[in-house]
Amino acid sequence: MNHLTWVELNREAYRFNMEHFRKLAGNNRKIMAIIKSNAYGHGLYETALLAQECGNADMLGVYSLQEAKHLYGKGIKLPIFIMGYVMAEEFNDIARHDFSICISSLDQLKAVAETIGTKTLKIHLKFDTGLRRLGFLPEETQELLAWLSEHENFRVEGIFSHFANIEDTVSHDFAKEQRDTFEKMCAPFMKKYNPLRHIACSAAGLLFPDTYFEMIRSGISMYGMWPSKETLITSLKSNMAGELKPVLSWKTRIAQVKDVKPGDTVGYGRSHAITRPGRIAIIPVGYNDGYCRKYSNSAKVIVRGIEAPVIGRICMNMSMIDVSHIKDASREDEVILIGSCGNSSVTADFLAGISDTINYEVTTRISPFIPRVIV
Ligand SMILES: *Cc1c(COP(=O)(O)O)cnc(C)c1O
Repeated sequence: MNHLTWVELNREAYRFNMEHFRKLAGNNRKIMAIIKSNAYGHGLYETALLAQECGNADMLGVYSLQEAKHLYGKGIKLPIFIMGYVMAEEFNDIARHDFSICISSLDQLKAVAETIGTKTLKIHLKFDTGLRRLGFLPEETQELLAWLSEHENFRVEGIFSHFANIEDTVSHDFAKEQRDTFEKMCAPFMKKYNPLRHIACSAAGLLFPDTYFEMIRSGISMYGMWPSKETLITSLKSNMAGELKPVLSWKTRIAQVKDVKPGDTVGYGRSHAITRPGRIAIIPVGYNDGYCRKYSNSAKVIVRGIEAPVIGRICMNMSMIDVSHIKDASREDEVILIGSCGNSSVTADFLAGISDTINYEVTTRISPFIPRVIV
């Protein structure tokens, strides 16, 4: 079946990125494929399938219980780790599904213990080493350890933390401090639990082997995107330079082509004026789909291998492009919103530049209603 608007996931690109991480991690460490937020817009289930299929992922990381249950219901077999906060009353459900879950405070732990009674639970303790988001502070770990020693049904499968400033900078002193704090905070737990320690995200995975511990959690780079320009620069200067291949393409089709003449204006607010006789095409994608309104009069797409500028304002469900220079452009022609064809390409980074955000947000915002197709 042909789709009107769809997202393509390139299996070979995913496999390539995953193999790159397996080479970095070696065979003795685990890799957690981070697929929260609809796999950064790539499609939760489809990406879980790819991760499972390629054989290099040991675990899947999601944010919510809903995401975890969706994957479980679809028959995904890889172990699932829930990184976000889940209400204490939901923990019987978690124990039943055998999901691994983040625990970030003693307060939460006590409420969970009350809910699950003597059932066993696989937990990953979240340590706050500097981000000041979820997690135990260094001064809280002693009490935590004491409490856990009296509650044997809580199995400490992992301990993890998250970097605060590893993407936005080429100076990594704070990240190094966090890494060392993490190691110190974990030390008293090692003998009894032998937990999987994990603190490395994509940027750390791409740059600093001494952050790997027993597992790497990688999101953005699995999708073939660099965590930031700074990460790319640091990587190129190091002996760890590697290539990543973008997994996602976003495509739609022309709904109508029409001639326009000088004096015409295009779209809401009449923000684009036609100065020469030409042709425009209307495409059925707008900000509802995650095609950001900031792309108005700024973004570009690819039609028949040729770049075409977005003209006028992005509407809720439609946008207009200038195809005056693409002679044969016709109705139902494929239009590439993100992706490449021949020498033309539109990257998530390019769109992020226009909308003053990061590539993470550009793909994450692609509507979950749009079909994801593995090619
Ligand atoms: C999102 C997230 C990651 C993945 O980060 P990337 O930069 O995409 O690799 C890892 N750990 C936690 C806790 C996260 O929230």
